[in-house]
Amino acid sequence: MSILEHLSWEELLELMEKEARRRKAPVYEFRKHVTTPFRALVAVLLSSRTRDETTLEAVRRLFKRATSPEELLALSEEELRELIYPVGFYRSKAANLRELARVLIERYGGRVPDTLEELLTLPGIGRKSANVVLANAFGRSAIAVDTHVHRIANRLGVVSTSKPEETEAMLHALVPGELKNRLNLTLVAFGQTVCKPVKPLCGECPIGEHCPSSTSRGRTPRATG
Ligand code: SF4
Repeated sequence: MSILEHLSWEELLELMEKEARRRKAPVYEFRKHVTTPFRALVAVLLSSRTRDETTLEAVRRLFKRATSPEELLALSEEELRELIYPVGFYRSKAANLRELARVLIERYGGRVPDTLEELLTLPGIGRKSANVVLANAFGRSAIAVDTHVHRIANRLGVVSTSKPEETEAMLHALVPGELKNRLNLTLVAFGQTVCKPVKPLCGECPIGEHCPSSTSRGRTPRATG
């Protein structure tokens, strides 16, 4: 059973977004610091395998010192490590940040490229990160599937997949084009505040009435992702 039998994508995203904003999802605070494609790229690089709160603090510290590839490259690797610690893999991320700045300057004249193919050639940027930048910084019809998106899409019954790549392909076929770039942000925010990985708040969920995984009806939600 899929929640789409009861709600349209637009209704679904609106209900989730409203509740996540009411609960002050950390990702919305995070987005306030991500005002340019360059900042979005740096933030997404820092965020992998790192708690949202930790990434937010690192981003705040780093953007006080560097908001362009040139300013980033002017910092030593050691300074970068100190600024971003304790994000996960901070040593390799510090090295990637300098390399990223160098490549942006040398290959793209200091701008951030806006195609998936080009973004995937950048150091430290994988498919999910590239899609986050395309959707959030360039407003493209990209769908970034992280653990929140993968888990919630499966719990809602809109997909039945075991790998994020499968989820991305299915969501591309299912979500209307104009809503695709809202999907990641909304599901991340909802996953941080309501449909959490462990102990989702099904009893307080605005879409719980129609959710096939709601624990309010005695079910155990899928812990995917
Ligand atoms: S009812 Fe529970 S499992 Fe379903 S979307 Fe809401 S919080 Fe997630």
